[in-house]
Amino acid sequence: MNSQAPRPFEKIDCPVCDGHSFEALFEKRGEPFVRCRGCGLVLINPRPGFGVVAETYDADYSGGYIRKAQKKRARCTRWVRRLRRRHVAAGRWLDVGCSAGFVVEAAAAAGFDAYGVELEAAAVAFARDTLQLPNIVCGTLEAQAYPAAHFDVVTMYDVIEHVPDLNATVAELRRILAPGGVIEIRTPDVGHFTTPRALDTWPEIKPSEHLYYFDRRTLPRLFARHGLAVRERRFMFKSALDIVFAHA
Ligand SMILES: [Zn+2]
Repeated sequence: MNSQAPRPFEKIDCPVCDGHSFEALFEKRGEPFVRCRGCGLVLINPRPGFGVVAETYDADYSGGYIRKAQKKRARCTRWVRRLRRRHVAAGRWLDVGCSAGFVVEAAAAAGFDAYGVELEAAAVAFARDTLQLPNIVCGTLEAQAYPAAHFDVVTMYDVIEHVPDLNATVAELRRILAPGGVIEIRTPDVGHFTTPRALDTWPEIKPSEHLYYFDRRTLPRLFARHGLAVRERRFMFKSALDIVFAHA
């Protein structure tokens, strides 16, 4: 992220509607934020190449997360219990982008067979060594080649806005989701009533790091492309979306 080397930028079509007409919004740290005229998705486009984006995971990305461990743990336990109560009572749970593993820990404590996948090696080491969670692996979701229809719950909390190839990732989420299973996605909500109209002042605007900014229409539209329908959309007091998807 702080690399001084020239950064190759790539221009992409809208991953939600395949549109290629964008309204310029503002620039931050030299990266152009735009809104798709077809569907309203806000994104960085053109954007730094994936190698540059991936560097944001190499540093101490989860360090702050680990320092706030106790508070995070209590929150993860509430999320897991709520999902178990409302959607899926038991089975295999996968947390994608699991960081230090607190969701995996909470899901295991709630009786799930719980797994995690995470890009940052330091977070995985913490999960394995300190939390004693053996089911957490380092790498991308796609590289794990999980069996089809394998997981009853897949969670992605504050992760989808970082994913370089959205359609590849959502297709993989659907492939590994068991019949009757659910996928819960949490991500910043660009259309939330608390999100500032002067979007460049919104703390969630993070060049190179948050590539996409969804709202209550664009996120379901992306998932609908892959045969996934909204099961529940939670009301959130802060500027976040929380949507539970299931097979359509
Ligand atoms: Zn679009």
